[in-house]
Amino acid sequence: MASRLDPTPSDSPKSLPEVLAGASTGKATVPGFAKKEVAKRKAKEPPKDQFTQDSDQPVTRQQYEAMMTDRPVKFGPKTSGFVRGGGSNGFPCSHCVHFYNSPVTAIAMEKPTHATCEVVRESSEKDEIEPNDTCKLFSKDGRTLPLLESEEGSEA
Ligand code: SF4
Repeated sequence: MASRLDPTPSDSPKSLPEVLAGASTGKATVPGFAKKEVAKRKAKEPPKDQFTQDSDQPVTRQQYEAMMTDRPVKFGPKTSGFVRGGGSNGFPCSHCVHFYNSPVTAIAMEKPTHATCEVVRESSEKDEIEPNDTCKLFSKDGRTLPLLESEEGSEA
């Protein structure tokens, strides 16, 4: 039985000087059978989940705390055109797909309400967004951005 390292009929074996020349110039060619094998293996591999950390080991308290302090970067008020109480323009945060209201956080903070935005905050210390605020990133579906139409078009 032929070894997998044997050249396939369509691949003629290269001489040692040819192989070494390819390696030294960085232009070494990969035999066709090897390319097919890699392609087959890649097709079977699950896609890499770049936004989820998972493993067989349960999460530790230290890992939990590290994740909680690793806050995402968001747009500030000047960049986003954020206006406190500006929702009377017809585009209030309460109707925006980026708005998150958290009753549980409000209870924990002993406040009547607490909401944030997934893409905008006032500053690192002030992240609360109110239902009647607004900004230029207002969107009802995450794709159409009516207040950015004149600059970027309505499709993100
Ligand atoms: S993207 Fe703008 S309009 Fe939408 S919730 Fe955030 S701050 Fe409000």
